Amino acid sequence: MVSIEKIVRASSLEEAYELNQDRKRVVIGGFMWMKMGNRNIAEAIDLSGLGLDTIEETGEEFRIGCMCSLRSLELHEGINREFKGFIREAVHRIIGVQFRNGATVGGSIYGRYGFSDVLTSLLALDTHVELYKGGIVPLKEFVQVKPDTDILVSVIIKKDGRKASYKSQRNTKTDFPVITAAVAMKGSTVYVSVGARPSKAGLVESNDSGLAAGSSAEEILKFSEWARDQFTYGSDMRAGGDYRKHLASVYIRRGITELLGGEKA
Ligand SMILES: Cc1cc2nc3c(=O)[nH]c(=O)nc-3n(C[C@H](O)[C@H](O)[C@H](O)COP(=O)(O)OP(=O)(O)OC[C@H]3O[C@@H](n4cnc5c(N)ncnc54)[C@H](O)[C@@H]3O)c2cc1C
Repeated sequence: MVSIEKIVRASSLEEAYELNQDRKRVVIGGFMWMKMGNRNIAEAIDLSGLGLDTIEETGEEFRIGCMCSLRSLELHEGINREFKGFIREAVHRIIGVQFRNGATVGGSIYGRYGFSDVLTSLLALDTHVELYKGGIVPLKEFVQVKPDTDILVSVIIKKDGRKASYKSQRNTKTDFPVITAAVAMKGSTVYVSVGARPSKAGLVESNDSGLAAGSSAEEILKFSEWARDQFTYGSDMRAGGDYRKHLASVYIRRGITELLGGEKA
């Protein structure tokens, strides 16, 4: 069981950051993941009074506050319009509505969880994270770095014209995924992110995929197998590595086929 001795509601990001430099303290997002643990937290830093639970849209980007719930992300009209339901598809299978009303975008990205649908999907887009001290960093760099004592302020998704498709597979409806695969395309550049391998999602980019509307099934398959082979796959209680590897190429291929509007025979 987890227990918290004291909760401090930060009145500014500077205060939250200063408090978080002491390892006895910990930032809490929606507390949905942390409460599954077994530890005694001397002091929890609550960011809920800082107005970081909104999604701002401009002509260039979406800026998602770290305390924004997964449910708000899933339902956001502008995000669904821009990415044609791509993020909704990634998020709506996570447990249930009540859970997604509690879990936050900040906790999901900061945690860099191997099974994360949120991380897999956002990696395939032009996404950055805003850190209080570290500034704005591409998500693909942030995932490689070990968690430190900075505060994740917001997640920024650029409107760069990518079209994207998301696929995942679970053994049972509310379980963690066995594989997650996101494909995004902009011209002939293809971005492929695969997670739940069971390690955390990684990204490969190809500027010369040669894929375009009208590409043949064989061309799409060849690229999908290449993209699949850029990642490693492991086994755990949910699936074997070979099975995950097989699923990855199937879902990458289906995603690309969908984005290209079908394939030539
Ligand atoms: C049973 C269960 C099943 C799940 N299944 C899935 C699934 O299938 N797919 C999926 O994608 N996700 C899944 N998740 C993860 C979930 O979607 C969230 O990603 C997770 O709960 C973290 O979000 P949170 O708001 O609860 O964060 P918390 O539990 O509050 O925090 C998580 C971590 O992030 C840190 N943190 C939080 N906010 C910040 C911040 N702003 N700055 C710095 N550090 C911060 C905390 O200190 C902590 O280390 C599951 C979680 C649970 C508990």
